[in-house]
Amino acid sequence: MNAHAIAATLFGPQDLRIVEHPLAPLAPGMVRVRFGAGGICGSDLHYFRHARTGDYVVTSPLVLGHEISGEIVEISGAAPGLSVGDHVAVNPSRWCGHCARCLERRANLCENIYFMGSASKTPHMQGGFASLFDATPAQCFKVPPDVAYQAAALAEPLAVSLHAVARAGDIAGRNLILFGAGPIGLLTMLAARLGGCGELTVADIAAAPLAFARRLGADRTI
Ligand SMILES: [Zn+2]
Ligand SMILES: [Zn+2]
Repeated sequence: MNAHAIAATLFGPQDLRIVEHPLAPLAPGMVRVRFGAGGICGSDLHYFRHARTGDYVVTSPLVLGHEISGEIVEISGAAPGLSVGDHVAVNPSRWCGHCARCLERRANLCENIYFMGSASKTPHMQGGFASLFDATPAQCFKVPPDVAYQAAALAEPLAVSLHAVARAGDIAGRNLILFGAGPIGLLTMLAARLGGCGELTVADIAAAPLAFARRLGADRTI
């Protein structure tokens, strides 16, 4: 097994380096994932430009990346439903399992949550822009091997969009306006289409994303 991983590591504003990190033996109850593909989130860009995202300040080297897919290369202990060789989409959130929110089965709101590639906690939780990284089995969602890694890596931002559409209630046949045609907005547009909405209008302040929205089937752009 590899004794090291190479990772896109942020040392400060616009100081991103490909660095070799030693890999400890896989801890019990964890799986090791070989990087397949990763999406670059707006928060990754904020970290890159300013070494911070909002209140989260990078105070020690941080491996970026939280929209990741890959292949399981090692399993330590029980990992129900997962095998070495499986392709997985990785949920970047690692929840505690025992706080009030977790016990309500709302682990996405966990009070002690760790998030891959985020400076929200110190020490920071390292991200997935690494040739190999470790995750809990619960973070790993198996995808069919014929799904491209690039598509599987979109599972995380797509989850945001599916949640947004679910929050909107019954949209079947209803006309919608979507504000913002970035990746999340465009995925939300596609999710709303799948939900059977009526006419779709997309608003943005920039021309390029609006052109993308039209290519993806927006009825009108503003
Ligand atoms: Zn993100
Ligand atoms: Zn919790």
